[in-house]
Amino acid sequence: MSICAIDIDMWPVTNTQPRAPVRFNHLPLGFLSPVILLDSKAQQTELEWISYPPNGWEEISGLDENYTPIRTYQVCQVMEPNQNNWLRTNWIEKGDAQRIFVELKFTLRDCNSLPGVVGTCKETFNLYYQETDSEVGRSLRENQYVKIDTIAADESFTQGDLGERKMKLNTEVRIIGPLSRRGFYLAFQDVGACIALVSVKVYYKKCWSIIENLATFPDTVTGSEFSSLVEVEGMCVSDAEEEADNSPKMHCSAEGEWLVPIGKCICKAGFHQKGDACEPCGRGFYKSSSQDLQCSRCPAHSFNDREGSWRCDCEDGYYRALSDPPSVACTRPPSAPQNLVYNINQTTVSLEWSPPADTGGRNDVSYRVICRRCSWEPEECVPCGPNVGYSPAQSGLVDTYVTIMDLLAHANYTFEVEAVNGVSDLSRTQRLFAAVSIATGQAAPSQVSEVIKEKVQQRSIQLSWQEPHQPNGVITEYEIKYYEKDQKDRIYSTVRSKSTSATVNNLKPSTAYVFQIRAFTEAGYGTYGPRLEITTKEEVHSSCCSAWIPKRLVTCGISCRIKILVIEAFYFSHTINQEGDEELYFQFKFPGTKTYIDPETYEDPNRAVHQFAKELDASCIKIERVIGAGEFGEVCSGRLKLPGKRDVSVAIKTLKVGYTEKQRREFLCEASIMGQFDHPNVVHLEGVVTRGKPVMIVIEYMENGSLDAFLRKHDGQFTVIQLVGMLRGIAAGMRYLSDMGYVHRDLAARNILVNSNLVCKVSDFGLSRVIDDDPEAVYTTTGGKIPVRWTAPEAIQYRKFTSASDVWSYGIVMWEVMSYGERPYWDMSNQDVIKAIEEGYRLPAPMDCPPGLHQLMLDCWQKDRAERPKFDQIVGILDKMIRNPNTLKTPVGTCTSPLLDQSTPDFTAFRSVGEWLEAIKMERYRDNFTAAGYSSLESVARMSIEDVMSLGITLVGHQKKIMSSIQTMRAQMLHLHGTGVQV
Ligand code: AMP
Repeated sequence: MSICAIDIDMWPVTNTQPRAPVRFNHLPLGFLSPVILLDSKAQQTELEWISYPPNGWEEISGLDENYTPIRTYQVCQVMEPNQNNWLRTNWIEKGDAQRIFVELKFTLRDCNSLPGVVGTCKETFNLYYQETDSEVGRSLRENQYVKIDTIAADESFTQGDLGERKMKLNTEVRIIGPLSRRGFYLAFQDVGACIALVSVKVYYKKCWSIIENLATFPDTVTGSEFSSLVEVEGMCVSDAEEEADNSPKMHCSAEGEWLVPIGKCICKAGFHQKGDACEPCGRGFYKSSSQDLQCSRCPAHSFNDREGSWRCDCEDGYYRALSDPPSVACTRPPSAPQNLVYNINQTTVSLEWSPPADTGGRNDVSYRVICRRCSWEPEECVPCGPNVGYSPAQSGLVDTYVTIMDLLAHANYTFEVEAVNGVSDLSRTQRLFAAVSIATGQAAPSQVSEVIKEKVQQRSIQLSWQEPHQPNGVITEYEIKYYEKDQKDRIYSTVRSKSTSATVNNLKPSTAYVFQIRAFTEAGYGTYGPRLEITTKEEVHSSCCSAWIPKRLVTCGISCRIKILVIEAFYFSHTINQEGDEELYFQFKFPGTKTYIDPETYEDPNRAVHQFAKELDASCIKIERVIGAGEFGEVCSGRLKLPGKRDVSVAIKTLKVGYTEKQRREFLCEASIMGQFDHPNVVHLEGVVTRGKPVMIVIEYMENGSLDAFLRKHDGQFTVIQLVGMLRGIAAGMRYLSDMGYVHRDLAARNILVNSNLVCKVSDFGLSRVIDDDPEAVYTTTGGKIPVRWTAPEAIQYRKFTSASDVWSYGIVMWEVMSYGERPYWDMSNQDVIKAIEEGYRLPAPMDCPPGLHQLMLDCWQKDRAERPKFDQIVGILDKMIRNPNTLKTPVGTCTSPLLDQSTPDFTAFRSVGEWLEAIKMERYRDNFTAAGYSSLESVARMSIEDVMSLGITLVGHQKKIMSSIQTMRAQMLHLHGTGVQV
């Protein structure tokens, strides 16, 4: 076997998956060289082995086949019988060998070639060994030797052969072991042969030290058995480490070969492999793990200036989050969120913003909101605390909006919205955030939750309770709702109290009742507190007519029944107009919501007013200034100060002097209607002054006046979310009114009032006179005045006014709001509007209007009123949009009308750009259009908002008006004439 180019293919034994064979091409020279213990040929001087008897083996010098001088031992006593000639080597120290190889080279004379030696001549000799721990002197005792073998020659020679220079040399190898002593002797016994022992070589085999898979395997002596493999653990070279669960091993075979490498070492972090060693990564490079093969260049915004780095350091102002692997770039905190806008609804604030301009190089940007409540003067702010709710959360916000709830009413807040990413907390630089300061509006009180039963009797229960944690205003009343727990048809009864205690009377003995209490402020009722169950005491004597259960009616006599009905009737007629600390009233089948009562059903309108409106003392009212003109007189602003209450801003509608009785009745009719309503999105009536002059209706003050004028004044200044928030308020007010059974008939932006918190409230109540009052109302062929542009076709055609026709009007209000107070159907005549609607035309989406909102408008304008959504559904849809503002995102210019039918006002009928501009009252820009080369309506129809702006039209309202008209014109061309206008 060649020792320098061994090619052995092996499979490691530990892996279940076969892997590519390991090839050993780089083993060091001498890999298989044995360790020589004795080589007689190598010795130049006399061997001086022991020979016995002296005439036996003889040391003779000679030349080997290569003419190299050698020392040999020879014996040839073939003529004499009974030969027993011994030759013993010197002591051979075995070292760490276990398995010793003995290689003999010798020549042997063929007995047949020797005449007269028959019977005495032999052709073999015997090989022995004796183990000892040290040299035992030069005496030779045969019985101490262990025989290894009888050695015979493969080839013997004749006399003639001797004449030839080339000897017939025999080579025999024998193995001894395992040996246990420090050394041994070899002995050769000749029994009458003619032998020349040319060389004796004693050696053992070793696997020589090697580096394999970055592990060093030391010199290893082979095992004692031919078949044994010696398992050897490798030691990782410097700067390398064992691969996990894969420590390096090799096996040393009996032949001194390394076999079956298993496991490996890998260069540690910061080092990479070069040949059989690990070298450090250079400057500006790193290797983060031993698992990586190569060093890599430092990622962006990081560096290192030393060798052997496992990571790179971040540049100043850049950081690495704990979870960031060393391979990613260093990053920094994001900049502040942009375009923070808000919308307030009573004590709920919605914030919306755009992502920061700089995300810091990370994609894990989230947002957190910091809420602080501030005093008015001097401005000092404290954290909002745990009572404030955040939806979806206060921090970790992924979307760019949040709703903050349960704020205090009439309080100042500051909200900071901060964009954060994975390295924000590591940065010591100043926080960057967007902030807004907001004042909340009014809100209903929070729950009455701590109720105590003071006294439980057979027929009465006395309760007391704590004021709600957040009264959000002055609590004027508490309402105690209760019902019999086991009653199948749940009949609620109600008791009111102005203090924080009440006694509920007329209960049945031994009966379980469930109580719930809510508080009332000028902002309306709060939600009911938790249910409290109390059982009245047992009755000693019962009487059939003393209880109210209908079941009892069955067992009562007729006279008794009449009595009950009379009592019920009495209480029912007192449901609303009774006042007192503990006003008791019953409603037979509790209807959920009150029903609107038409004041015209009252014979005496004065009674209706006093049934539903509170008579105020004129001395409590301070008129400050005139803010508008109503049909019956001036509308003023002022203050109302009721005894024991805070003074509040109010609007005061006055009845001009010299009124007729009919006018007075009509004037006060509005109060009779408004007084029945109690909802945050319906204008609240404070009361009336009828017992003095002027006659006044006092209403909560709405600082921003009517919605249409307000929007026109703030053209383009609100976010879509804010506009939708307003629409939501209006829809909620209308839902309430329709639930009450009230049909408004004149719902339009001009009849919506806006307060300082942008809360929209439905106003302008009345019967027919409201519409008479409306300057938009015109006489129709069906008789009566109708605000045509706002009114559903069935109401125009046959005066079918329903909540569904109010929904149509609501759709128009949506359009007015989204177009910032544009006039519906622009300057089309009422007749054309009626005709166009009849023929299927519907208003196109205003500019920047999200398609979902326009779709909702179109739904409100369904010809079949049964197909229109209910206000309840509208509120639900708008709530969903507010919760998912993404649904409200619209790229500019995508809102062309989806429904443009045959009879759209024909803008294409205009003969020139000038004529068109005149029609839309924008003729002042005639020269701008001409100068920019827009000479035809076709070219105008292709204009984008940028084109319009580039004409030098800077007023947002005008831009919108023109764009809206262009969009309509474009849609008309497309639909009516098939003219494809590409924008
Ligand atoms: P009306 O007769 O209700 O249409 O009122 C005439 C004008 O007075 C309205 O257009 C408003 O600008 C103003 N106004 C009416 N009611 C209020 C109110 N509650 N708060 C503030 N302004 C009001």
